[in-house]
Amino acid sequence: MSEQIRYSIVIPMYNEEAVITETYRRLKQVMGSMGEPYELIFVNDGSSDRSVQLIKEFSLRDDTIVLIDFSRNFGHQLAITAGMDYAVGEAVVVIDADLQDPPELIVEMASKWKEGYEVVYAKRLKRNGETRFKKWSASLFYRVLKASTDINIPVDTGDFRLMDRKVIDELKRLPENNRFVRGLVSWIGFKQTAVEYERDERLAGETKYPLKRMIKLSLDGITSFSIKPLKLAGYIGALLSMSGFLYLMYVLFLNFFTDSYVMKGWSSMISISLIFDGVILIILGIMGEYVGRIYDETKARPLYIVREHLGGQYENGPTHA
Ligand code: UDP
Ligand code: MG
Repeated sequence: MSEQIRYSIVIPMYNEEAVITETYRRLKQVMGSMGEPYELIFVNDGSSDRSVQLIKEFSLRDDTIVLIDFSRNFGHQLAITAGMDYAVGEAVVVIDADLQDPPELIVEMASKWKEGYEVVYAKRLKRNGETRFKKWSASLFYRVLKASTDINIPVDTGDFRLMDRKVIDELKRLPENNRFVRGLVSWIGFKQTAVEYERDERLAGETKYPLKRMIKLSLDGITSFSIKPLKLAGYIGALLSMSGFLYLMYVLFLNFFTDSYVMKGWSSMISISLIFDGVILIILGIMGEYVGRIYDETKARPLYIVREHLGGQYENGPTHA
């Protein structure tokens, strides 16, 4: 129990019974080949399948396993936050449970870390076996995010990355609730570099990120790192009132200097007013996204709740919770 852990591997899992055995085997293989002390932190994010039983079975014969079992599903970003809170390693790697992120890449990440980089993130060159819509929407999201913020958040990069202890300790000081972890890591800074890979298909099971969750994650990313959408209202308003004023001038001109009728019929009125009402509601919705998040933060609830914590060297409970 006293040996200093070099690598902590954080694996969030939500109903991953179909893949977790193979993921465990591949991780053991890779970490074993590296020849330094490590821990495998499985964070169970409220699975309703046998994921937890499987981890408990592995842990009977393996004391590198740490299990953090959430009281319910708190979401992927909070699962990796908990894993990082409990990690004791000098470097922490976050990796998906479904083998879409190849464990073998950890070797390359570690060698970059030893060169002196404090964050090594994995950039996706290609995504295999995902729907065209997912690829397109993900690509669009990363570009909108990049355009809307001054923080340099790398595009096409998920949470698969290695972080130095220094970065992890800074992350623990950020208490926000609606977390977009990869953005926070960029915000923190330090020396960052990329390794590139092709993202494979999920080994088995289904994606736990349906459209609704993807939208939530995108909005968390954008609202956490930009207030540009809030300024949109001002720009649109200025544009509309200016065109309104010009149009008024035109109407007055028609009225005084020609004999044409002003504004025939009411259908044009209705459509204009529908469009402008729509614009106003959209802007209210944008404000709602921010106000709702302010409300979440003021409640200052713990980020997650742990039912059970097995193994590992962490004694004092998580910093965030
Ligand atoms: N995950 C989680 N909680 C959730 C949703 C997902 O811990 O509420 C985990 C999931 O088990 C996986 C990782 O987050 O290890 C990424 O999820 P998934 O592979 O379903 O997302 P995708 O790769 O399809 O974007
Ligand atoms: Mg996946």
